[in-house]
Amino acid sequence: MMFDYRPGLENIKSYSVEEKEWDSKLDANESPNNLPPLVHERVMNQIEYMAFNRYPDIGMLDLRALIAEAFATTIQNIVIGNGSSEILLALCQTFGGPGRSIIFPTPSFSMYGIYAQLTDSQAVPVKLNEDFSLSPEKVVEAAEQSKAKLIILCNPNNPTGTIIPQEDIEYILSKVQCPVVVDEAYYEFYGQSAVSLMKKYDHLIVARTLSKAYGLAAIRVGYMLSNTEIVSMVNKVMMPYHINTLSLITAQVVYQMRDEFMPIIGQIIGERKRLADSLAAIAGITVYPSETNFILIKTEKAQKLSAYLSEKNIGIRDFSTAPLLTNCIRITLGTPLENDNVYKAIKTFMNE
Ligand code: PMP
Repeated sequence: MMFDYRPGLENIKSYSVEEKEWDSKLDANESPNNLPPLVHERVMNQIEYMAFNRYPDIGMLDLRALIAEAFATTIQNIVIGNGSSEILLALCQTFGGPGRSIIFPTPSFSMYGIYAQLTDSQAVPVKLNEDFSLSPEKVVEAAEQSKAKLIILCNPNNPTGTIIPQEDIEYILSKVQCPVVVDEAYYEFYGQSAVSLMKKYDHLIVARTLSKAYGLAAIRVGYMLSNTEIVSMVNKVMMPYHINTLSLITAQVVYQMRDEFMPIIGQIIGERKRLADSLAAIAGITVYPSETNFILIKTEKAQKLSAYLSEKNIGIRDFSTAPLLTNCIRITLGTPLENDNVYKAIKTFMNE
């Protein structure tokens, strides 16, 4: 190394994805569809009148007001992020730091540990059970032992698709004093939320994103809900103007017109059952239950299957060599045709 980098950076793996022009892109939990035509038209109309020469609305008042209204709360309870990724990093910046521990499940969204490390916090992963369920007692124990400053839960969990029952979230909230963030990136495919617990627990934070169910991965907008004190502290770590006007405009229109997305969300939930059932019927494949827009499968032949799907130009997320996810592959639900294609390819490979 030629330069004196921040200590610890050498141990951090940068987030990487295989970039390829897939025929079926089922690797990143995105929506298979671009915006519904009505929504697209409205976004384009609004962008036409945008003041490109002006900085964005620093308080993001319109978008926050829309979200606040949907949750019957106030704008002082909402933070907007550049994707929910920025919210998660901001929470680690707000509550973490040297000697301060952050608890998160594993296997789960890999960035939790990285954000903890990037903020020089002590990363404390809590292992999920064999069936990928979360033990709330283990979380509480780890929080007590490490004097946790923040607990991150992922419900439903990526990449396993599994859920944390509401009573387990409440159990954790009732036992710990530090803030608990429930990352609900896949909420719309599940339908149950911790938001209702907010009235009772002041240390609850809920994070959501428009990247998945609302098909706005390109736009990078997420948000969090919490009490006004946490919100004002989190806002301190955000850069000014961190959400650009194109994203604000798009997110506003999409959020206003979110009913237009119900058919595609419904279709994905239907496809989830269809694909899960047909994959489960293939000998040698275990399908984990999913409440998300992806399905995790396990097979002894995972490594070769991944290579085969790649050859067929079908992009999936290969976890076959990842610790705790050995022989697992994550398949994002695509269009019915894409789902048929991945099913047929897997069946052909497994029967060979
Ligand atoms: N949380 C979870 C559980 C995720 O899977 C992802 C995306 N893979 C994110 C947060 C981040 O999403 P975004 O930044 O696009 O909102």
